[in-house]
Amino acid sequence: MYIKKQRLLTPGPTPLLPRALHAMMASDVHHRTQDFQKIYRQVLADLKEVYGTTNDVLPLVSSGSGAMEAAISNLFRRGDKVIVCTAGKFGERWVSMTKAFGLNAVVLESPYGDVVTAARVDEALAANPDARGVFVQASETSTGAAHDVQGMAAAVKKSNAILVIDAITGLGTMPLDIDGWGLDVVIGGSQKAFMIPPGLGFLSVSPKAWEMAKTCDLPHFYFDLKKELKSAQGGESSWTPAVSLIISLGEALKYIKELGMNKLIANAQMLAQATRVAATSIGLELFSPGSPSSSVTAIKAPAGMDSGVIVKGFRNDFGMIIANGQGSMKGQIFRIAHLGYFDFADLFSMVGALELILSANGYPVQFGKGVAAVQQIYADAAYQKEAVVAG
Ligand SMILES: *Cc1c(COP(=O)(O)O)cnc(C)c1O
Repeated sequence: MYIKKQRLLTPGPTPLLPRALHAMMASDVHHRTQDFQKIYRQVLADLKEVYGTTNDVLPLVSSGSGAMEAAISNLFRRGDKVIVCTAGKFGERWVSMTKAFGLNAVVLESPYGDVVTAARVDEALAANPDARGVFVQASETSTGAAHDVQGMAAAVKKSNAILVIDAITGLGTMPLDIDGWGLDVVIGGSQKAFMIPPGLGFLSVSPKAWEMAKTCDLPHFYFDLKKELKSAQGGESSWTPAVSLIISLGEALKYIKELGMNKLIANAQMLAQATRVAATSIGLELFSPGSPSSSVTAIKAPAGMDSGVIVKGFRNDFGMIIANGQGSMKGQIFRIAHLGYFDFADLFSMVGALELILSANGYPVQFGKGVAAVQQIYADAAYQKEAVVAG
């Protein structure tokens, strides 16, 4: 018998920041007191700072999908034409959600592992000048691909539409210049790079988006962004907040501010790059090589091997939880996360374990080859600390 620590390597939930976890013990505070208001105001201010925007940023008590839904139900009108980009399971969620709310979705689809280009969005807007929204994932977690939201924003800016970005795994893994690029709605979730448990969704809302809220005719009640904004301005939330999660978030945001959002992003980028190099150095193929995301790396299982075997090997032999593919990608790929509280030590052990699992299942691996690739990247980075941060 050997000790197996549990290690979470999934793209949500992600490993918890210890001090944010411990802070949850102090949840015995009533939410309509000055004590809590003080915490809530600080969280709202820090959230805005970490988002890096002058737009309003609101937390909602829901998983990320609730914030996605709130963006639709608070900003659009029944029958509105919208352009929906999809290249994975989360893009498909935008398609289903916009349709569920009676929007007229013009769907721009790309195969799994690929992306929808900004040029296609530009063309679609030209062909549909009445479109009122463009929906996309900054990082498509199901395939490990990143979209060019900056390019898309440049196209959307010239139109009457707003850009609604599911950045649930984009925040903290890629630069998102909300004010500079003109990203109207940017959605986040607590269980991703924010390093705390699931249960909070976030969204930033631009003045252009607030303008659209004025004519919204879709039903909403619990997720009422105008009401939420008014509550937030008074240092409160509209409904009973998830007190423990807000307190936890306060600690996580403090940590992210100390580290710097740019360094959190650089950290994910470095780990993602090292993972790609390690995977290819042992002969594996990336699922989304063209525009890889730094939130999660999707790797194809070797020919003839079900990726579930690799997922099970990680869990049973090493206590490591990684993600299988979703939908039709199940069995084909496995996914390793980099967003939030991950470091190189996690990566060394993951790649070492991967080599053992592949070898045990008949795939020829020269032990240490992938680990050495990661070590090399660490060594190079350690000698160029400033470059790492800027990257
Ligand atoms: C995790 C995730 C979501 C949110 O899913 P929830 O289960 O509602 O938190 C949405 N989009 C992407 C891209 C995600 O990675």
